[in-house]
Amino acid sequence: MRNKVIILATGGTIAGVGEDGKIVGYKPGTLTIDDLIAATPKLKDVADIEALQICNINSDDITDRIWIKLANKINELAKDLDVVGFVITHGTDTMEETAYFLNLTVKTDKPVVFTGSMRPATSISADGYMNLYEALCVAVSKEAKGKGVLVVFSDCIFAARTVTKTSTYHVTAISSSGMGAMGIVRDGRVYLYASPFKCHTLESIFDVSKIDVLPKVSILYFSVDANPGLLEYAAKSSDGIVIAGAGAGEFSEAYKSIVDKLEIPVVVCSRIDDGIILKENLLCDNTVAADNLSPQKAAILLRLAIACKVEKSHLQEIFTKY
Ligand code: GLU
Repeated sequence: MRNKVIILATGGTIAGVGEDGKIVGYKPGTLTIDDLIAATPKLKDVADIEALQICNINSDDITDRIWIKLANKINELAKDLDVVGFVITHGTDTMEETAYFLNLTVKTDKPVVFTGSMRPATSISADGYMNLYEALCVAVSKEAKGKGVLVVFSDCIFAARTVTKTSTYHVTAISSSGMGAMGIVRDGRVYLYASPFKCHTLESIFDVSKIDVLPKVSILYFSVDANPGLLEYAAKSSDGIVIAGAGAGEFSEAYKSIVDKLEIPVVVCSRIDDGIILKENLLCDNTVAADNLSPQKAAILLRLAIACKVEKSHLQEIFTKY
């Protein structure tokens, strides 16, 4: 019996089609996963593949409903003893968000590996085929088991919690800023040098099996003269707020006077890429420090915490643990 891997395809540039050879002005989410598999015969040397087209879209159109559908699908398919792992193809714009969401909601130690590409499938030297091959190699590897959700891109293996998009054009755009890669892939072999230490997958308390949508959380980006009225407005139509503060999560007195009055949960991050925010950094007592989560990832954790009815008084603990 060979290893069976399920590829769940969502679209993105890896399935993008444009003018022959060009890299700009293409349409993401055009080729099907069957097209991509047919164009990459080497995949068959690695595993028996079952492919599911979940959607075929630009990843900026990913929604909470798709996240929940993916999590529940993986949780169901992971029960099949023949399945050793999963690969998810995804646009790079929001790949880090979907990866972190699944890191918190899938209940399996089987590898769940994201990949995508920066160049459309029709460009010269398209990177998607190699990325797909390497992601599949990681999905069947013993080394990747129990390491949480992973992202494989340009020969590197990243943890879902720290991975981020760092460039609008480089083929190495998916990276991990100050945290670095967990490992690398060479000719299909996996070399891991680090492990994620924050809570994930089987240890995570977050269960989305009985929900279809997530609570609404708005992210407010602070800058000089940022309009505190926007914060007030967002709070009225949101279940929680994430502030991307300056430096170690700071903002103006004008902002502070509004934050002090908010009753919904407020999580403070930094607008700086490589940023840790600790409880001692906070300007307002009613806020929660996001540790080193980016604003977009803090919003996911806050949405899940609200959905799973975590008490406000336990939110800081959650943000330290996940
Ligand atoms: N905006 C597109 C997406 O995220 C293209 C980005 C990409 O896949 O590289 O699906």
